[in-house]
Amino acid sequence: MNIWSKVSPSEKSKYIYRIARLMQERARELAIIETLDSGKVIRESRDIDIPLACNHFFYYAGWTDKLQYAFPNKKVSPLGVVGQIIPWNFPLLMAAWKIAPALAAGNTVVLKPAETTSLTALKLAEIIRDSGLPDGVVNIVTGYGDTGAELVNHYDINKIAFTGSTTVGKIIQKSISGSDKKVTLELGGKSANIILEDAPIDQAVEGIINGIFFNQGHVCCAGSRLFVQESIYDIIIKKLKRRIDKLIIGDPLDKNTDIGAINSKEQLNTINNYINIGKSEGSKIFQSSYKLPNKGYYCAPTIFTDVSQSNRIFQEEIFGPVLTIQTFRTIDEVIKKANNSPYGLAAGVWSDKGSRVFNLSSKLRAGVVWANTYNKFDPTSPFGGYKESGFGREGGLHGLSPYINLK
Ligand code: ADP
Repeated sequence: MNIWSKVSPSEKSKYIYRIARLMQERARELAIIETLDSGKVIRESRDIDIPLACNHFFYYAGWTDKLQYAFPNKKVSPLGVVGQIIPWNFPLLMAAWKIAPALAAGNTVVLKPAETTSLTALKLAEIIRDSGLPDGVVNIVTGYGDTGAELVNHYDINKIAFTGSTTVGKIIQKSISGSDKKVTLELGGKSANIILEDAPIDQAVEGIINGIFFNQGHVCCAGSRLFVQESIYDIIIKKLKRRIDKLIIGDPLDKNTDIGAINSKEQLNTINNYINIGKSEGSKIFQSSYKLPNKGYYCAPTIFTDVSQSNRIFQEEIFGPVLTIQTFRTIDEVIKKANNSPYGLAAGVWSDKGSRVFNLSSKLRAGVVWANTYNKFDPTSPFGGYKESGFGREGGLHGLSPYINLK
């Protein structure tokens, strides 16, 4: 048994609260480092990512002494050492999603941040050291994919928690088959954002913008497939184009910027490649006319209309500010279209009628369905996918289950 598992639940809680409070105290520093490192706009780091990361620690700190009640008549024990591998789109937030529940459940952690965005994870290591958490309980190891693979294959690791591409998720699953390692995978997505004709139009337009352009579209649950009911199609497209043209693109550290930099040159190439594919598949393109900065990796917010279900830009995850748009006439039609994807992570439904929202949300094969909003996260709420979007949930009580043994 590890040292951490022997610390009493109430003491564990104090350590985790302390980490949360220290993160809050250093929130400004964390936000600036996150933006410098990842290219995401400072408004998002400051107002969304960092506060949410702190909240994950606050939330899971409260669970340490309640596990026995959450799983009545069972003996709850930690798994041991968990290996955690995270991507570059929400570097600190993903670290918090992974580390907080693992610690609350009594495990020790080896976490590998993504190679392009390791700085806030290293800062977090400093904060965790300052919190007085016993040495060796949380370990941050930087490196490329091969370091991740070492972690996956290490015989002392009891569980792997991975967030990243479906391709690497499949490799991980293969590598651990035949071993008794547990695994949770949070993978890609191509989520449907559905606008019904009775939706509040202006809010829906904001929701479309936020759904696809938040964090430059580097979001696994991005609302990257838009479905608009035919009767409101023209007005939505008109307003959407006008709104896109007003987005400010540029310096991520400027608090007025709406769209920051693409995370890496490699990712920019991937996105541009998909934009070319979209054009060659015959879809109609509209891009913001805002002048992009000469230096750095930037991509103009892009929408494609006249997209068909078989097009690659409709089927494949682009992970950038690129939206595909289709229309529909009936609810049954949009359910079929929305579910026609190898992924099933999230969806959005915009309507004035609760009954319509409930009807759709029960039929969409997506782990999270937002109603009249998009890209909202909360530590109490489970997040995760169906199909090639992976399995296992993060957040809430559901997010603790993958880190415990029940007897
Ligand atoms: P993306 O395509 O978004 O960069 P990846 O799935 O390649 O996503 O990367 C997510 C994380 O997985 C990163 O931390 C990366 O270093 C790591 N990784 C990449 N390849 C492997 C692998 N074969 N085994 C384990 N981890 C890997």
